[in-house]
Amino acid sequence: MGLVVKKFGGTSVGDLSRIHHVANLVHDYKQKTGNDVVVVVSAMAGETNRLIDLAKSCVARPEPRELDVLVSTGEQVSTSLLSMALMAQGSKAKSFSARQAGISTNTSFTKAQIEEIQDERIRESIAAGFIPVVAGFQGINQSGDITTLGRGGSDITAVALAAALKADACYIYTDVDGVYSTDPRVCPEATRLDRICHEEMLEFSSMGAKVLHPRSVYFAMAYHVPLCVLSTFEPGEGTWIVKEEELMEKPIVTGVTYRTDEAKITISKLPSDPKALSTLFSVMAEHGIFIDMITQTGFDGSKTDISFTVMDDDSTNALEIVQQLVPELGAQGAECDRDIAKISIIGVGMRYHSGVASQMFEALASENIGVEMISTSEIKVSVVVPKKYWEVAVRTLNQSFCSHNIEVSVEK
Ligand code: ASP
Ligand code: MG
Repeated sequence: MGLVVKKFGGTSVGDLSRIHHVANLVHDYKQKTGNDVVVVVSAMAGETNRLIDLAKSCVARPEPRELDVLVSTGEQVSTSLLSMALMAQGSKAKSFSARQAGISTNTSFTKAQIEEIQDERIRESIAAGFIPVVAGFQGINQSGDITTLGRGGSDITAVALAAALKADACYIYTDVDGVYSTDPRVCPEATRLDRICHEEMLEFSSMGAKVLHPRSVYFAMAYHVPLCVLSTFEPGEGTWIVKEEELMEKPIVTGVTYRTDEAKITISKLPSDPKALSTLFSVMAEHGIFIDMITQTGFDGSKTDISFTVMDDDSTNALEIVQQLVPELGAQGAECDRDIAKISIIGVGMRYHSGVASQMFEALASENIGVEMISTSEIKVSVVVPKKYWEVAVRTLNQSFCSHNIEVSVEK
C-alpha cells in the first residue's frame, strides 16, 4: 500500500458541484488502489483575488500580516467543504489548517518559505484511516502568525508535504490535462508532453507558463518527489516531471514559451567604459529592479547602446532612474519600448545538438519577424520580437520544432 498527495487547484474546487466531483475522484481512487491519500486544496476560483481586492478597497496598502490573515481564509473554506463532501461519500476525512498540519515558514508575510513540516498529526490521521485535507498556500511562522507562500503557492504546499511524508507521488490536478509544448490557446497544434524534466519545467514555469509554481518544481527535484500534472475533469495520464536521466529520448526542443509582460529600456551612446556599465546596473540592483536580458549594439569605438529588459511593472520606475543617470554617465538619452515580447525555445536536447539557433532564426525570418535581442543558455534560446508578432512567432516555432518528433538519442 502506498501514499500519494493530490492537490486540487482553484477551478477544481470552484463550486459545490466541482467539490463533490473532487470528493468522488479521491474516494474512488482510495477504494480502487487501497493507497492512502493526503489532499491539498487551493481557495475556490477567484476567492483569493476577491479577498485581495477587499483589503485594497479597505485601505490602499494593506499591512502584509493582516493581508495574510485575510487571504489564508480562502483555503480554509475549501478544506472544510471538501472534507464534508468526502464524508458524504462515506470516506473518513478531516480538514487541516497550516497550524494543524505543522507547516512552519519564515517570517516573510505574503511570500513566506516553508522551513519545516511537523507531520505527526497528519500521519496519525492517515493511520486512523482518515483522508487529511490540508489548506495549501498558508503556513505559520515562529511567532505563531499566519503567513502565505505567494500566489500559486498551494503547489508548494503539496510537494513539500509529499516530501515530508515520503509520498510515492504528488499529483497536481488542474483545469488542463498536462503540460503542452506551448500554450494551446495560442497554438492549437501544441502537443501534450508525456514527460518533461525538472530543468525544462523550471524554464516553462518561470517563463510564464502557470501550470506549476517554480518552487514546487525545485522541491520535487531536491527531494525526489515524482510529480504529475493532470486534469480534474478529463481522464488521462497527464505529464510527469522527471529527472533528466529518466527521459529516454531527448527532443531537441521540448517547448516554446512566451512572455508579454516585459519592457525594453535602451540607453544610447553610453561611453564604453566598464565603470559606466557597473554604475548603471548597480543602481538598478539598489532599486530592486530585476533585469532579464541585456544586449549591446551600435559600438562605434567609444560609445555603445545598451538595452535591457525589465518587468512591465518596473519599467516606469526603471526609465526614470536611467534618465537621471544619463548626464552622470555621459550618455545621450534613454527610452522605453513596451511593445515587445520574449519568445523562448527550451529543451535539454540542445546540449547535444547544434544548429538550433539557426533553425529558430530561419523559422522567424520565414514570417518576416525581426529579432531585437537574443540570449541563450545551455537549454534555452530566447529572442525579443515586436509584440504584434508574438502569436505568429509562437506558432511558427512550435511548428518548426515541436510538431514532428525531432529527437536525439544520447550516446553515453
Ligand atoms: N489561492 C492562492 C492563489 O490564488 C494559492 C493557490 O491557488 O495556489 O494564489
Ligand atoms: Mg496554480
